[in-house]
Amino acid sequence: MEKLKFDANGLITAVVQDDAEGEVLMVAWMNAKAIRLTKETGEAHFWSRSREEIWRKGSTSGNVMKVVKLLVDCDQDTILVQVNPSGPACHTGEVSCFFQELRD
Ligand SMILES: [Zn+2]
Repeated sequence: MEKLKFDANGLITAVVQDDAEGEVLMVAWMNAKAIRLTKETGEAHFWSRSREEIWRKGSTSGNVMKVVKLLVDCDQDTILVQVNPSGPACHTGEVSCFFQELRD
């Protein structure tokens, strides 16, 4: 935990991946408290930059994410959250937030 490199706002990027499928589901932000709550509860918690509050994934949608493993990258500035999702990751109802191909 001490080794993690949080940004100036105390946040770190969190990439969320389906543990079984390998699919990238979403990207969010975590702070130290979100990481602690995630470890304690086994459910993914994030920091909402828009609402400026801790956010338990699925608290409103019911689509809770059970955390299988937390990995940190080589630079200690990004966390990979491997989960068993209980429903779509995206608020649009898509399985993953990355369902739109970027075109020019
Ligand atoms: Zn989304």
